[in-house]
Amino acid sequence: MNNNTANQILPLSRELFPTLANNKSLIYLDSAASMQTPHVVLDAMNSYYEQYRSNIHRGLYTISEKATTAYEAARANVARFINADPAEVIFTRGATEALNVIALGWAEQFIPRGQEILVSILEHHSNIVPWQMLAKRKGLKLRFFDITPDGQIDEDAFTKMLSKQTGLVCITAVSNALGTVTPIKRIIQKSYAARAKVVLDAAQAAAHLGARADLLGGPDFIVFAGHKMYGPTGIGVLYGKRQLLEQMDPVFGGGEMIREVMTERSTWNSLPWKLEAGTPPIAEAIGLSAAIDFIRDIGLSKIHDYEQSLTSYALDKLKQLPFIQIYGPADINFRSSIISFNIDGVHAHDVAALLDEKGIAIRAGHHCCMPLMQRLKVPATARISLAAYNTMEEIDTLVTSLKTIHAIFHRTHGKKITQPAHTLGNLAKAK
Ligand code: PMP
Repeated sequence: MNNNTANQILPLSRELFPTLANNKSLIYLDSAASMQTPHVVLDAMNSYYEQYRSNIHRGLYTISEKATTAYEAARANVARFINADPAEVIFTRGATEALNVIALGWAEQFIPRGQEILVSILEHHSNIVPWQMLAKRKGLKLRFFDITPDGQIDEDAFTKMLSKQTGLVCITAVSNALGTVTPIKRIIQKSYAARAKVVLDAAQAAAHLGARADLLGGPDFIVFAGHKMYGPTGIGVLYGKRQLLEQMDPVFGGGEMIREVMTERSTWNSLPWKLEAGTPPIAEAIGLSAAIDFIRDIGLSKIHDYEQSLTSYALDKLKQLPFIQIYGPADINFRSSIISFNIDGVHAHDVAALLDEKGIAIRAGHHCCMPLMQRLKVPATARISLAAYNTMEEIDTLVTSLKTIHAIFHRTHGKKITQPAHTLGNLAKAK
C-alpha cells in the first residue's frame, strides 16, 4: 500500500498515520483534542523544509518565491474548503488566537458599551474567556443561553434572550465536551433578524461536517484549528466577512502587516496581510493545505457517514452497560463523533488512567468547559472522540475494558461509592 496517498477505504489504514503505525497497540480515542497527522501532511511540510526553506513575501530569489506561492496557495485552498474569498482567510496560531483577534480587534472597536454578548453554555473556554475579558474592559454584558436536559441548545431560551441589545452571538458548531451538533442555521437566522453578528467556533466541525462560510448568508466570523483536522499544530484559521475585516484595525503590529511606517504613524497593508504580523506559520500553512487535500480525497461526506456509523455503534454498546451514564443528545442526528460519559462511582480521571494502562487514550476532565460541567452538575466526564481511522474493534476493546474497570472498582470500594475521594483533589488539574 502506498503510504503517501489517502486510501479511499474507511476506516483509514493506520499505516497512513505515523503515530498509529509506530504504536501498534495504541487505541487512540482523543481526536477531538488533536487528530493524528498523515504522512501526506508531514511530506508536504518536509518538502518545504528540505527543498525551499526560506521566508515569504520579501525574498527576491527563487526558493522564497516558491515558498510565497506555496503559502498563498494554502490560503486559497482553505478559502475553497470553506467557500470564501482568500482575502477573508487569516492564518493564526490556532482557534484560540483567532477568537482573541475577533475580540481584541473587531468586537473591541464595534460593539458599543452597554450591548450584550450571548454565548451558549456549551462553549469551550476559548469561546468564553476572550468575551469575558472584553466585557470587563468595555462594560458589556456576557450572557449564557442554556441547553436542554439532553445537551442540545435550548432554542426558546436563546430566542428570548435576543434583543436590540444583542451585539454578538458566539456559538460552537459542535460541542467538544458533549458532541452536540448545534442548530447553527437557525441561530444565524435569528441573530441576523436581531441585527447581531455571529461568531462560529468550527474547531470540532471542520474535519467532520465542514465549516462553510456561505451557510445562509454565512456567519460573520468562523474559527478553526489545523491540528483538529489532520493538520499540524501551530496553525488556525480566522475567517471574517470582508467588510468586517476591512473595518477593523490590526490587533498585532509588526512586519508584513504594514504598507508604510513613519516615525509617528503607520498605514496598513491590504487584506489578508493586514492581520498577519511577522513571519507566519509557513510550514504549518502548507501542512494544513495538504490536510485539506487529504480530507477532500476521501470525501467529507464519506468521512462523516463512517464516523456516524462508528458513533452509533459506540453509543449502542455503551448504552448496554448499566453502570454508565452518557451525556449529550440521545439522537445520533444531533451528535458528532464525541461521546462523554461517567462510570458509576469511578472518577473520570481514574477511568482514563486505567484505560491508558490498556493502551487506550481518552480524555477526562472538564474539557475546558467548566461552565458546562457546572450546568451538568458533574466535576468531570470521560470522553472518547472518534475519527476516520478508528474501528468497531477498538470500540469493542474499550467496552470490555470499561467492564473490567467497573468490576475492579466495585470489588475494591463496594457498591455504594458515588465519588472516590482520593481523586477529587485532581480536579483543579483537569484540562
Ligand atoms: N473550540 C473548541 C470547540 C475546541 O474543542 C477547541 C480545542 N479543544 C478550541 C476551541 C481551541 O482550539 P485551539 O486549542 O486549537 O486553539
